[in-house]
Amino acid sequence: MGVPTLGCGCAVCTSADPRDRRLRPSVLLQWHDGTHYRVVLIDTGPDFREQALRNKLTRVDAVFYTHDHADHIFGLDDLRPLSYTVFREGGNIPLFAAPQTEETLRRIYDYTFSPEATYPNRPRVHIEPLNERTPVFGVDFQRVPVLHGELEISGFRFGRTAYLTDVSSIPDESFGLLDGLDHVVLSALRHKPHPNHATVEQAVEWARRIGAKHTWLTHVAHELGHEETNAKLPDNIRMAYDGLSFPIELEGTSA
Ligand SMILES: [Zn+2]
Ligand SMILES: [Zn+2]
Repeated sequence: MGVPTLGCGCAVCTSADPRDRRLRPSVLLQWHDGTHYRVVLIDTGPDFREQALRNKLTRVDAVFYTHDHADHIFGLDDLRPLSYTVFREGGNIPLFAAPQTEETLRRIYDYTFSPEATYPNRPRVHIEPLNERTPVFGVDFQRVPVLHGELEISGFRFGRTAYLTDVSSIPDESFGLLDGLDHVVLSALRHKPHPNHATVEQAVEWARRIGAKHTWLTHVAHELGHEETNAKLPDNIRMAYDGLSFPIELEGTSA
């Protein structure tokens, strides 16, 4: 829901700490492929435009979608101006989505995807199937299936980093895809159990099993203050925050 949460006056929602202000979760990867800087996003939530402005985003080369919930897809239309840049270069932006997400995107963004769409200023994007491994400009994106309540959704591994949001359970086979990580970004909503999301305690348990050098907690609700939650976490598990960035290893490419 974002923090501050609308209508709420709790300590976290009224906190002066900028790290307690949380837009809806998303991640941006940027690397140089030998010829160009490439920018790949995971999810375009309703805050995508604001995040793009804050981070001075000037291009997007591809988007991966984790699942079809509003807080992960409702910024798709704001890809429009950036998609025109790619269109002028002769292409459009590929959106990689699993079948259920694809179906929802086609339904909600009918004016973009329908074969009858004639609106001239629609985003220049197209949906591509999300395979187990999807190479994009020299970087392999490994799909990591996780459960979000009843729903199987997609996490991603790229090089020695993985991004797993909206997780309520991680299948054993998926743990097998998470060996040897430098960084893992894991969602942790709050302390109180939720049917579709992990608690901090569950996330810490998974972080230990995954054994990445660094774990970052994201998709955090207003029940958790940044500073006070961080103080209780093990040293290598930290709360992520809006604008957090760090260098990663993308196997054979420099990020
Ligand atoms: Zn969700
Ligand atoms: Zn979510």
